[in-house]
Amino acid sequence: MEPKEKVRIKGVKKIIVVASGKGGVGKSTVAANLAMTLALQKNKVALVDADIYGPSIPKIFDIENERPCLSDSSLADNMMEPIRKYSVTINSIGFFIDKNKSVIWRGPMVSKAITQLFTQTNWGDIDYMIVDFPPGTGDIQITIMQKFQIDGVVVVTTPQVLSLNDARRGTEMFVNNQINVPIIGVVENMSWFTPLKHPDEKYYIFGENGGAILAKEFSVPLLCQIPMVQGIGQQSENGESIE
Ligand code: ADP
Repeated sequence: MEPKEKVRIKGVKKIIVVASGKGGVGKSTVAANLAMTLALQKNKVALVDADIYGPSIPKIFDIENERPCLSDSSLADNMMEPIRKYSVTINSIGFFIDKNKSVIWRGPMVSKAITQLFTQTNWGDIDYMIVDFPPGTGDIQITIMQKFQIDGVVVVTTPQVLSLNDARRGTEMFVNNQINVPIIGVVENMSWFTPLKHPDEKYYIFGENGGAILAKEFSVPLLCQIPMVQGIGQQSENGESIE
């Protein structure tokens, strides 16, 4: 079967996906900080929260009570006006899910909703669109990658060698020849903990080397190691980024 031509989103120069093999490794935190850092560097940045299983971008940006409204100028096209915070243009699947109810949407419905997030949001001119991907490998992830022209993927993992199988599976999806999206590199998060009172000490709570092993297996760079930072969620809310 001939692969379908992938779609570019109008006005968007580059799309970068932030992915992980499993949830809770800090993928959304990295996506949010990457978006804010690029915005601080004077790029026009969009952030798409496509993590249907745990959309945390509205919480990180403290916009949980906001909702995109229909654009005045293009009501006929049913376009949504994204939310802007800290110079980042944001839309999240979380705005459309009742967080007190479990998600009972079926696969095709989810894929449709996420596709609308990409194509029916009035993004404007964007240099970098950062996508907070759902964790793992599944139909939703594959649909997005087959449909849209993704320029690169940043894979987030913890150093836990035990969870490498998930990370490996999650990463293999991108190199599959039907998908074929370049992997920019691996970010290892929660690499160590340094108590404030003992700034010279490093405690490797979740083990060591997971990020480096994964990066080596896929012949991509280990982009950075991020230590555990107390109150990192709070920092994100204040618009401070991880160095
Ligand atoms: P994911 O998107 O992979 O599910 P999140 O980014 O939502 O993960 O992070 C899960 C939790 O871990 C959040 O409470 C977040 O604030 C916290 N967290 C993420 N990275 C760090 C870090 N480097 N240090 C401390 N807490 C972190």
